[in-house]
Amino acid sequence: MVAQIIDGRAHARSLITAVKADIALLQAEKTNIGLATITVGTDYGSVAYENRLRALAHKLGIPYEGYRLDESTSEADLINLVRKLNAEPDVSGILALRPLPAHIDEASIFKHLDPRKDIESVHPENAGLLALGVPRFVPSTAAAAFYLLDSWIDSTGANRADFYHGANIVVIGRSNNVGKPAVSLGFARGAAVASIDEWADRTTGVGRHTRRADVLIVAAGKAGLVKAEHVTENTVVIDVGINPMTDLDGRVRMVGDVDFEPVAARARAITPVPGGVGPITDVWLMSNTVSAARLLAVPSHTNPEFTEPLSEAS
Ligand code: NAD
Repeated sequence: MVAQIIDGRAHARSLITAVKADIALLQAEKTNIGLATITVGTDYGSVAYENRLRALAHKLGIPYEGYRLDESTSEADLINLVRKLNAEPDVSGILALRPLPAHIDEASIFKHLDPRKDIESVHPENAGLLALGVPRFVPSTAAAAFYLLDSWIDSTGANRADFYHGANIVVIGRSNNVGKPAVSLGFARGAAVASIDEWADRTTGVGRHTRRADVLIVAAGKAGLVKAEHVTENTVVIDVGINPMTDLDGRVRMVGDVDFEPVAARARAITPVPGGVGPITDVWLMSNTVSAARLLAVPSHTNPEFTEPLSEAS
């Protein structure tokens, strides 16, 4: 079997068209929309991600404020910046990129975000709503993984509900921003979902779990983790991992967590890296920024699409 390649770039193009239309509508209504990102330090992945978001926001006409702070920035200064952005009417979405430096407690930053501007659902209220199955914003990476899966199921002619109700989904990686939200989205679709982390790799090996997967979502940040012997001809592989690799000529390129060629020679379908989950993630974040702009502009009792904020940001 040679796996079908699930082309994230092609799907992203049609999503971009839809998001552009939403933005045009907001702008015609004179509803404020704006994205602010905060990057602390020089982590390669974060800086690359921030560059992509800046370019996409520009392409879509979303006003963008990119704050790049020094590695030594204090937690108190970062909280002050979050408070300032919470209060800015021109900013509808705020993203604090991970990883933050070790001296900054991520959770204490996230809890200061205005939940209505927290487009990645990292504020405890939004993370809770997601876990309860009533998300205010669906975090972009997990959303992208399932967007590609849903689209792939549609392309086979199968009914989504029938597919998910009979599916075993295995998620490798259990981070708060990717792995756990992916598990929640699998639950929401009525699938049987298993979550494994590096302990499975260190003890029994990941294959014991992954060979049962109809859908394997891999978000570990470890190049080459998933090998051909870890999948079957029934497995749809969604590779979330992004790992910088330096070639012999010194050029840096991105690879996923999946050993692409041998796995693609065996699996049912697979997303490439680059060109799979990443392009959808970026557009999804913009779409969440649009949703946040609506949420801020429209009194929430008239807008049933959104869950009421339970509390103000502290
Ligand atoms: P993280 O470091 O916060 O979490 C990694 C998770 O993987 C942890 O639960 C860890 O226990 C688990 N893990 C690590 N090594 C493992 C192993 N050998 N076997 C099984 N599990 C293992 O990382 P993250 O933020 O969740 O990101 C994961 C990967 O996804 C990274 O490569 C990141 O760059 C990428 N990413 C991609 C996108 C995208 O849009 N495509 C977005 C966000 C993150």
